[in-house]
Amino acid sequence: MRTSEIAKRYLDFFAKQGHMVVPSASLISPNPTTLFTIAGMVPFIPYLLGEQTPPSKRMASNQKCVRTLDIDEVGKTTRHGTFFQMLGNFSFGDYFKEEAIHYAWTLLTTPQDQGGYGFDPESLWVTTYTDDEEARSIWRNEGMDPAHMQIMGMEDNFWTTGGPGPGGPCSEIYVDRGPEYGIEGGPAADESRYIEIWDLVFENFEVDNVKSKTDLHIVGELENKNIDTGAGLERLAYLLQHKNNIYETDEVYPVIEAAERLSGHTYGEDADDDVRFRVVADHVRSALMIMSDGVRPSNEGRGYVLRRLLRRSIRSMRTLGVQDDVLPHLFPVSKEAMSSSYPELNELFPDISAAAYGEEASFRRTLDKGTSILDVAVKKAQDSAAQGGDAVVSGDEAFTLHDTYGFPIELTLEMAEEQGVHVDEPKFRELMAQQKSRARADALSKRHNVDVSVYDDFKKTLDRPLEFLGYTDYSSRSR
Ligand code: ATP
Repeated sequence: MRTSEIAKRYLDFFAKQGHMVVPSASLISPNPTTLFTIAGMVPFIPYLLGEQTPPSKRMASNQKCVRTLDIDEVGKTTRHGTFFQMLGNFSFGDYFKEEAIHYAWTLLTTPQDQGGYGFDPESLWVTTYTDDEEARSIWRNEGMDPAHMQIMGMEDNFWTTGGPGPGGPCSEIYVDRGPEYGIEGGPAADESRYIEIWDLVFENFEVDNVKSKTDLHIVGELENKNIDTGAGLERLAYLLQHKNNIYETDEVYPVIEAAERLSGHTYGEDADDDVRFRVVADHVRSALMIMSDGVRPSNEGRGYVLRRLLRRSIRSMRTLGVQDDVLPHLFPVSKEAMSSSYPELNELFPDISAAAYGEEASFRRTLDKGTSILDVAVKKAQDSAAQGGDAVVSGDEAFTLHDTYGFPIELTLEMAEEQGVHVDEPKFRELMAQQKSRARADALSKRHNVDVSVYDDFKKTLDRPLEFLGYTDYSSRSR
């Protein structure tokens, strides 16, 4: 089942249950505290908080998401993308726990030839919150094997906004991939064998005094109870397509194949290379989708995240042995794989690709200038380690790389780490702070030493002393 078909089945299913299906909102988060939309519920926050009236009490969407927090997991776990799509169904003061669980169970277990996903009920597991006996009883009634239900504490299975407001327990649904993928014992024992696919949040409490995830005060029951769910489309896709991970699904894998052709290496032959292939496929797709929402590479905020994604894919291809330009070979492939779900990519592509390829050209210049300097510093650190010293690139070296060769510290850290060497980051930060205060002092002294001689000639032309009339004489001001 193609990824787009999995999304369609979800949205069709919830449309049949009376949900208004809305298109994905932009990846640029409407919430000023986060750069990107990180979950399907983000565009619905005003409805969940009761600040705005929703156009329908039941809504569903397939939301584009970016989570940079998961960047270090990419390629190493089977299930974390920087870009992914989150399917979600929402109830704003309408249906609650019983229906939410019933809908999820029905869609997951209905046979594929009848419009569902056809998961074997015996492969499904759930976690529930300690005090949520109600959820456990609903799951049991639906047919969930009681031995496949695990109880979790507040840390894992209780949702809040992080402050006073709505909150409530959640129930996560997992698929057991089988004994060849890890140890027995449910998600509590092994989250790479038991894959989390869907999180159901039951918002029925008002909470305050939220000191931490586990230290809060439940004020009472909310009058309007909400349902907020999120199902990972790529995770469903990899399980339903019987692949090993999300990077091997139909919307991502074509980029791995293109990278194989470019590098002459074969995916599946070397564990380290495989991580690089997956990083490339993930990052190229994320960059493409972020750019389709109008972001362009820059040195701050979203633009900087985008720049890092592009640069990491270029560097991973270098490590796979490709020195020439890679994005002109990879971007069109990712666009092809994504455009049946996002047809707007076709029209936007000329602009997106020009910006991406320009970024590659400028990064290539940076790399050409700095890599040999970093190589020398890394070699020195490795030699020192061989003689019993520390394997560390000094803060001064990292600073020179930044200051003279335009190497951002993240790049130095990543490239050094790949070769088993640390960087003295605290010293680097100290040197940066010193440079900043020098620049500030410089700017100040320049301001105090402005060349005012230009006004001298003007003064000579006046036949009376200068008097400032700005505060009193409006006519002189307007003249
Ligand atoms: P995990 O603990 O596995 O990282 P999570 O608890 O952070 O997941 P939620 O925030 O509950 O996940 O998100 C809802 C669903 O979105 C998850 O059940 C999962 O299917 C999917 N999901 C979350 N993060 C990612 C990601 N980085 N890549 C792909 N899918 C994801």
